[in-house]
Amino acid sequence: MSDTTHLFLSPHSDDVALSCGGLVARLRARHEHVVIATFYGGAGSLAQLTPYQREALGFGERRVTLSPTDVMEERAREDRAYAAALDAWVVGVGLPDAVFRGYEGEAALMGEARSDDPAPASAMAELLHTVKPEVAYVPLSIGGHVDHR
Ligand SMILES: [Zn+2]
Repeated sequence: MSDTTHLFLSPHSDDVALSCGGLVARLRARHEHVVIATFYGGAGSLAQLTPYQREALGFGERRVTLSPTDVMEERAREDRAYAAALDAWVVGVGLPDAVFRGYEGEAALMGEARSDDPAPASAMAELLHTVKPEVAYVPLSIGGHVDHR
């Protein structure tokens, strides 16, 4: 049994599962503590997805009647199921995903963060203060998505 706590900073649900899943499994096999913090798992206040949001979130033209909140909650449920299978923890920071913060189009999503969209420094500080990890992993920059910067 180890008392080492590993904190993974995940922009979206499933980013850690897909980019660091093997490492998380190895750490848990050694009984080390793993906390996955998902930063941008929040939805907007819209009643229904805009056409761009439908496309960006992968629904395209399929006939689904999910609200933005339904979509983001389903993604969070999938991430919790992944973490539960490995006996790890998921913490949701709850900031809205870029598609709910007004980023539209591939160039905007893959570009620089707007000046009115600052990095979540206070959420990061609170997380570090609360979790007190010995090791932090920041697999954020993979792909260049604005939420990964
Ligand atoms: Zn992501």
